[in-house]
Amino acid sequence: MGEIRYPAVVIDHRKVRENVTKVRELCEGHGIKVAGVIKGANGIVSVARDFTDCGIELLASSRLEQLARVKNAGMPAKLLMIRVPMLSEVEELVKICDASLNSEMKTLEALNEAALSQNTSHGVILMADLGDLREGYFDHQELKDAAVKVEKEMKGLELLGIGTNLGCYGSVMPTKDKMDALAALAEDVEGLIGRPLEIVSGGATSSLMGVFDDYMPAKVNMLRIGAGILVGPLDETCTCYGYHQMEMLNDDSFTLEAQVIEVKLKASHPIGTLGVDAFGHKNTYVDRGMRKRALCAVGGADFGDPGDIIPLDPGIQVVGCSGDHLILDVEDAPATPEVGDIIRFKPRYTALLRLTGSENVHIIDKQEN
Ligand SMILES: *Cc1c(COP(=O)(O)O)cnc(C)c1O
Repeated sequence: MGEIRYPAVVIDHRKVRENVTKVRELCEGHGIKVAGVIKGANGIVSVARDFTDCGIELLASSRLEQLARVKNAGMPAKLLMIRVPMLSEVEELVKICDASLNSEMKTLEALNEAALSQNTSHGVILMADLGDLREGYFDHQELKDAAVKVEKEMKGLELLGIGTNLGCYGSVMPTKDKMDALAALAEDVEGLIGRPLEIVSGGATSSLMGVFDDYMPAKVNMLRIGAGILVGPLDETCTCYGYHQMEMLNDDSFTLEAQVIEVKLKASHPIGTLGVDAFGHKNTYVDRGMRKRALCAVGGADFGDPGDIIPLDPGIQVVGCSGDHLILDVEDAPATPEVGDIIRFKPRYTALLRLTGSENVHIIDKQEN
């Protein structure tokens, strides 16, 4: 164990694969293909491979760097860029990705030029904003006009379909009326171009709601799933609003391991005149008397919000952090941790996103035994 360095994120690939397979089979049962979204784990190649090994044919990310990494690893999958592209990355994007989500004619024109000059064809999914107010055509007539233009005039582009995103900025739920509206819009576009669309992409993990409650219109045939597969039901806000069906998924495929660097009995209320903390915030502190504390060598610089990492062992509570230190209350732990011990946590989605992107965090594949 001597060579293992901390802090570390340990990946249990068996559990990731179980989640991929369960979500894929669930969706396929409803005529829905899954695009595997890898951005939540920084596009780590071994995780991308879990997706493709378990039958996912389309890998997606919001970061071109991650898709390039996956491409260089020779992954047997098509690659989809799911953040509306920057004009400055269009050339690279066309080289690396098979398709992208889009909402601007100026960008579509640049993609078309890039594809033509590279003698290739780039797939396009036009995004409709159904009220969540992040990306997509808010005016659906504008989407229809763009679809016709891509179809009829842009020889470097292939119109694959339309899509939407919900539950991100605006917290809008993927309810039946939203999915029906997307299906109706797809039919309108099909009428205008005179052929069926290959893809109607109904959203992210939150749209599994429509699968669980069986109201997904037949037209919706693709979901882009990341969080649900990576962290399971853990993250209630960004996944399925407490849908108990999510409990079939593993929530501990990724664990954070941090090493204890100090253990002491300390006061729980700071002593002195209080100003602001390491992040410039004014805080209030609860006085619980003298408590046993453990300090770990990992911090907000790695995981972000200390509320987003959950100790796996009973009797351990996260008290707070600075950039590089994590403070734990271990008074109620059955065995008091010692300096050098390793404490394990389940990261929520946002913490996983940050941890896997932190250059100070070691990524370790759990050894099967
Ligand atoms: C991140 C993202 C997804 C995946 O969302 P999850 O909640 O992780 O499943 C899907 N589509 C778009 C456009 C995204 O940005």
